[in-house]
Amino acid sequence: MATLTFLSILAFLILSSSSSSSSISQSEEQQTPSYLQFVLNATQFPAKESYDYIIVGGGTAGCPLAATLSKCFNVLLLERGGIPYGRPDLMNQEGFLTSLIDVDSLSSPTEAFISEDGVPNARGRVLGGSSAINAGFYSRADQEFYKKSGIKWNYRLVNQSYKWVEKEIVFKPQLKNWQSAIRDALIESGVRPYNGFSLNHIPGTKIGGSTFDGAGNRRSAADLLSYSNGSNIKVAIHAYVERILLTGDSSSSPTAAIGVIYRDEIGGYHRAMVTGKGEVILAAGALGSPQLLLLSGIGPRPYLSSMGIPVTVHSPSVGQYLYDNPRNGISFVPPFPLEHSLIQVVGITDSGAYIEAASNIIPFSTVPMYFTVATLMEKIIGPNSVGSLRLASTDVRTNPLVRFNYLSHPIDLARCINGTRKIGEVLKSSAMEGFKFDEVYGRRDFRYVGPSLPENLTSDREMGQFCRRTVGTIWHYHGGCVVKKVVDRNLKVIQVQSLRVVDGSVFSVSPGTNPQATLMMMGR
Ligand code: FAD
Repeated sequence: MATLTFLSILAFLILSSSSSSSSISQSEEQQTPSYLQFVLNATQFPAKESYDYIIVGGGTAGCPLAATLSKCFNVLLLERGGIPYGRPDLMNQEGFLTSLIDVDSLSSPTEAFISEDGVPNARGRVLGGSSAINAGFYSRADQEFYKKSGIKWNYRLVNQSYKWVEKEIVFKPQLKNWQSAIRDALIESGVRPYNGFSLNHIPGTKIGGSTFDGAGNRRSAADLLSYSNGSNIKVAIHAYVERILLTGDSSSSPTAAIGVIYRDEIGGYHRAMVTGKGEVILAAGALGSPQLLLLSGIGPRPYLSSMGIPVTVHSPSVGQYLYDNPRNGISFVPPFPLEHSLIQVVGITDSGAYIEAASNIIPFSTVPMYFTVATLMEKIIGPNSVGSLRLASTDVRTNPLVRFNYLSHPIDLARCINGTRKIGEVLKSSAMEGFKFDEVYGRRDFRYVGPSLPENLTSDREMGQFCRRTVGTIWHYHGGCVVKKVVDRNLKVIQVQSLRVVDGSVFSVSPGTNPQATLMMMGR
C-alpha cells in the first residue's frame, strides 16, 4: 500500500497554482507584515519571564488566539519554527509542492512523517503552522459540527470571528479551465444545487474561499498577528517547548500549570511563567498538543510509567481518539496544458463525501518541456475509524508515532465507495470529454498517472479494494485531546487548573470540508 499511496500522494503533491483570485480582504500587495516588530528569536529571550498567558504553538489556532488575548493581557507566543515571510516557496502558491517535499529532519517549515498505516503526511513547523504550508482552501464548518464537537459555542461570536479572519486573509478565486470544468462536471453529475461562491458549508457544488490572493501570494494565520496589541505581545520563534511546568499532584492538592520550559536553537533553556489568573494554552496541533501533555506527565498512567515519565495526572485518553480523513482519487495528463490550481471548487455530496480537484504544470528535469497533471479526489466526512498517538522518544523534537487505521470502520469504507463512484460519474460527464485523448479503434480515454478507477463502478468489492489500495491523506488529521475525554466543553484540561488546549487536537470530527477556517475562528 505504501508505494501506491506514495504515488497517489505525489500526484496531489505536484500541485501548485498561479490561478488568479479577487479580493474580499483589503490588500493584495505583499507588504512586510507588521507583526514582525514583536517577533524575536528565542535566543534573545531572558532565562525567566512572566506573562498572563503563554501560548504554545504559533499555528492556525495559536496566532489568532494570541492576537485576541493581547488586546487585554500580556501574552507570550512560543513557536518551534521560523517565520514564513521572505520564503518564496511558502509565500506563493507555486511553491506548494516544493515546500512539501523540501524537508529536513529538524528545521524545515514542513515536517514530513509517515503514519504507521504507511501513508506519507505533513505538519507545519513555522509561524502560521499548517496554514502556512497548506492548499489554502477556506470553507466554514457545517452546522452539524457545532453540535457534534461538544465545544460550548456562542454562535454570535462564531460568526463575528469568521468575519474577523476573512477580512484579513480570505479571497474569492477566479476559476480557469480545470476548476471551471470540474464545477460543470459536478453539477452535471448531480452534485446540486450550484451555490456559486460561498464561504458557508452548503450541500451541492460551490466555489470556496482561498488564502491565496489574486497574485498567488499566501496569507496564513501568521498574518492575523497583525491584529495584536504590539505592546502586550511577544512572539518567540525557534522556541521548542519541552515541558509544561505543573504544581501539585491530583491526589492531595489540585494540579495546576504554572509555566513552560522551552529550548532555543542553540540549546539554551528558558522558563516562562504565568502570573495571577493566567493560563498555559496549548495550540501545538493534533500531534504537538497530546505529545506535550504526555511529556509533561498528563496521560495514561501505565503508558507513561512504561516510558519512564513521572505521572502527574492519570488521563487515559491523551493521544487516543486520533483521526485522519482519507483521500482517494485519480490523476491524468490532459491533451492540452491546464493552469496551475489548488482546490477552489468543492462538491458537497449527500453521501458523506466531498469532491475536490487540483491541477499542476510539472517541468521535466532534463529538457525544457512541461506536462500538466489534473487531479480529482474525494475526502469523506468524520471519519469514524479511530487511531492513536504514542511517543517515539522523550525528545519533543522527534515526531510522535501515529496510526490512523484508515477505512477500518465500515461506514468510512462505504462513504469512500460512494465518493469514488461519484468521481467515476464526474469523469463520464460531457464536461470531461475534452480532457480525453483519441485512443486506438476510435476509443477516447483519459491518460492516467497512477491507478485508474475500476471499470465496474457498481461493484462494491472492486470499489472498496480501490479505496484501500490508493488511500492517502488530505492532511485534516485531528483529535488526541478530544472534548469530554481530555478537555472539557471550555477546552480546559480535565483535572488540571490553568491549562487549556485550543487547536485541532480537541476535535473528534473534522469541521465542514476543510478545517482551517474553523480553527482560525476558534482561536479568535
Ligand atoms: P497547526 O497549524 O499545525 O499549528 C501547530 C503549531 O504548533 C505549529 O506551528 C508547530 O510548529 C507548533 N508546535 C508544535 N509543537 C510545538 C512545541 N513543542 N513547541 C513550540 N511549538 C510547537 N485545511 C484547509 O482548511 N484547507 C486546505 O486547503 C488545507 N490543505 C492542507 C494541506 C497540507 C499540506 C496540510 C499539512 C494541511 C492542510 N489543511 C488544509 C489542514 C489545516 O491546515 C490544518 O488542519 C490546520 O492548519 C491545523 O491547525 P492547528 O492549529 O491545529 O495546528
